[in-house]
Amino acid sequence: MQKVTDAGRVSRFRVVVVIGNGDGFVGVGAGKARQYLVALRKALRNAKLNITPVRRGCGSWECRCGEPHSVPFVVRGKSGSVVVTLKPAPKGTGLVAGDVAKAVLRMAGVKDVWTETLGETRTTLNFAKAVVEALRNTYKFVTPVDWLKA
Ligand SMILES: [Zn+2]
Repeated sequence: MQKVTDAGRVSRFRVVVVIGNGDGFVGVGAGKARQYLVALRKALRNAKLNITPVRRGCGSWECRCGEPHSVPFVVRGKSGSVVVTLKPAPKGTGLVAGDVAKAVLRMAGVKDVWTETLGETRTTLNFAKAVVEALRNTYKFVTPVDWLKA
């Protein structure tokens, strides 16, 4: 479990939690409360309810090893103003991504990927959710029509 926290400036805590088994399942959730632990518990519960299976693969033409260390093809996810694109990368590339995205990808068990982000990635929850949505889309082909809407 990895916590991505912004402590509330006011007397409320907003906690974003990323959970996963490091092997194909990942979830993100947020919780708000006056007490940190209560917020954390809520976030954890929401994250568990939002667990998504992730199809991994090796979609990189530079690699073609066939092992599930990256994403099988280019996927995109959106949440709020944040749009995240994940691109297959060859072995050894690592996670070329912002810290929040890295946490999500690591939890999902993706080892090598290139990312492109648009929008307000300082909004931790939207950033994390966009990555999860992109990962969810590994189980569904996204048509080029949908890419243009972003
Ligand atoms: Zn490969």
